[in-house]
Amino acid sequence: MGSARKTAIQTVINREVVKPRLEGGKVSEYFSSNVFTDDAMRHYLSEEAYKAVKTAIKEGTKISREMADAVAAGMKAWAIDKGANSYTHWFQPLTGLTAEKHDMFFMPTIDGKGVEKFSGDALVQQEPDASSFPSGGIRATFEARGYTAWDPGSPAFIMEIGDGKTLCIPTIFISYTGESLDYKAPLLKSSHFLEQAALPVVHLFDKDATKVTATLGWEQEYFLIDEALFYQRPDLMFAGRTLLGAAPQKGQQFEDHYFGSIPERVYAYMLDLETECHKLGIPVRTRHNEVAPAQFECAPMFEEVNVAVDHNSLLMDLMERVARRHKLRVLLHEKPFAGINGSGKHNNWSMSTDTGKNLLSPGKTPKNNILFLTFFVNVIKAVSEYADLLRASIASANNDHRLGANEAPPAIISVFTGSYMADVLNEIEKRVAKGKYDELTNANLKLDIHNKIPDVMLDNTDRNRTSPFAFTGNKFEFRAVGSSANCAKPMTVMNAIVGKQLLNFKAEIDKLTKDGETKEGAIMRVLRQYITDSKKVLFEGDGYSEAWEKEAKKRGLSNVKTTPYALDFYNSKGAKEVLVATGIYSARELEARVDILHHNYSLKIDTEASLLADIAISKIIPAGVEYMNTLITNIKGLKEAGVAANAAKAQKAIVTEVAELVNSIKDTTDKLLAAKEKAHNGKSNADISKAYCDKVKPLMDELRSQIDTLEAVVDDNVWPLPKYREMLFIR
Ligand code: ADP
Ligand code: MG
Repeated sequence: MGSARKTAIQTVINREVVKPRLEGGKVSEYFSSNVFTDDAMRHYLSEEAYKAVKTAIKEGTKISREMADAVAAGMKAWAIDKGANSYTHWFQPLTGLTAEKHDMFFMPTIDGKGVEKFSGDALVQQEPDASSFPSGGIRATFEARGYTAWDPGSPAFIMEIGDGKTLCIPTIFISYTGESLDYKAPLLKSSHFLEQAALPVVHLFDKDATKVTATLGWEQEYFLIDEALFYQRPDLMFAGRTLLGAAPQKGQQFEDHYFGSIPERVYAYMLDLETECHKLGIPVRTRHNEVAPAQFECAPMFEEVNVAVDHNSLLMDLMERVARRHKLRVLLHEKPFAGINGSGKHNNWSMSTDTGKNLLSPGKTPKNNILFLTFFVNVIKAVSEYADLLRASIASANNDHRLGANEAPPAIISVFTGSYMADVLNEIEKRVAKGKYDELTNANLKLDIHNKIPDVMLDNTDRNRTSPFAFTGNKFEFRAVGSSANCAKPMTVMNAIVGKQLLNFKAEIDKLTKDGETKEGAIMRVLRQYITDSKKVLFEGDGYSEAWEKEAKKRGLSNVKTTPYALDFYNSKGAKEVLVATGIYSARELEARVDILHHNYSLKIDTEASLLADIAISKIIPAGVEYMNTLITNIKGLKEAGVAANAAKAQKAIVTEVAELVNSIKDTTDKLLAAKEKAHNGKSNADISKAYCDKVKPLMDELRSQIDTLEAVVDDNVWPLPKYREMLFIR
């Protein structure tokens, strides 16, 4: 066995469980202890400053310079009391990672001493030296500068790294000319847009509501692998996934891992992670094993979408950090192991009002149920109209391995409502008449579905796990989102398409009621039409099946399996209507963003191709050669010893097979490197990413398959890389 591999395996076998750093006591006693919460604000801010922040959060008003100074002073006092000595603007640039740049509070004074300082200016705006963050050319054209600007809607927090503590201020990241360079600015705009569109619709039913917020509850799937094995796999280290590796004899076919007992080391990790999360106010509540071996999940209680997105980004950072403490590595990649289930991040999405209503929760009275039906059907209509944009919003090189691989929601966007709601929709379609309101009878309107709907809330039994977009009782669950994605991307699109749809809906209702129809009549009739219009996306069957692919094609639904082509949807008329005309992106911002996404894709494939080629040449071929040498020595020895000629028959056959494989591996590696060179000569980033997708990726698959065949042929003792069974099953 490659000796490094052998040592790594020994290390894993001898690992001790690392004791988690628990806080002790009830979670509620230390929950949010590192967050500048409402309570902390009341304590550290003047009445006036506190009010300014609250109004800014509620109404999006600007905070005056004077007030900013007051808030900064309070925040500093709190942070110093907590033991922090520095601060940072914390943001989410388009690299997909979080970014921070720390500054000390400490400021030397002329008398050779110093003071702790933090001004309103430093709180509100910073200019990180950020010229290396992707901007899709936006900053190159005008100004190299990018600014971070405080988002009071997401509370400041203290990040503990080892013994160090830093005050982190959530910010958006924009260019000098005001264009967004991050995930968060467009998300905030989309939330505002949705609110503006949804409120007038809510007011049809509830005049008291003054606020509508989108809510998000994510479910984070991930793999854990021991650090010693991780370091023996350059592909995991630099690409986050295995680029080669033969399938283990036992995969997940026995399905015995799901909800199985959690291994002790992993459990210690989870406890540690949860403690860190709770101190930071991330309301994680569930933990369990996932379908694949070594795969797990954690999920919080849902929150307002902006905060939930920040919390998920923060969680991904924490996961990495805490894993290291436990000598583990967390794999957030959508598909770390071929042939084994990938990881997703279900985005549970809904809307709620400040009067405490979840707009996607079926109510108890007929009146509330019309409200529920209105939002329910409008979401379906939005998905039906703009399914392609949802597809584009989850496109990434990583996620391509999952979507359409017959084990995850397919690349076809459809909506699962559950059989009960499907019946309700059918009934509405049948029973609400097409004509004018006065042609409707009262019986038509007093649908008895009103009284039945509350039952549906509890009816989670017919969950369809194969749908990319499912109604699950009181929220929609967008399941096609990838595990490493920043949730802001799909959530921005979600908010935008539903907002746009609600604007259209309200306009139709206004028109009908102006023409003399009753409100209820108008609503039911428009909803009826929407149900008819949305039929094509409604699908209750098995989304993984081939039959569905065929059926979806007949229905005219898109089934785009790769990122470079899915990104084209951002150039469509629909994208302009929903993302640009609504002010969520300027045309230029959207263009820049798509360009970055293409570029990221190409970079990713390029890195993987280089890595795979390098491993093939520097590790795999030498292992094949070493094994051939052993066999040849043996064949020679047998001959010298005068053993019958056919005694070396097997050895000769294996040498031939290995030699052939080694030759093919070398050939394919050469072809791969040539294709890669050629691909990055394309004219635009879109052309380049398509070349990587069409010309480079297939060669990687071919090379992998040759290497995996070789793995099964050569002596286990010479194989240099930890095998799948070792990474997945050694605890
Ligand atoms: P699952 O069986 O898919 O794990 P759960 O009922 O546990 O479903 O919920 C999953 C996620 O959905 C949780 O994060 C939960 O907070 C979230 N969720 C529940 N209600 C809402 C809502 N109204 N808006 C957004 N997310 C929600
Ligand atoms: Mg779920």
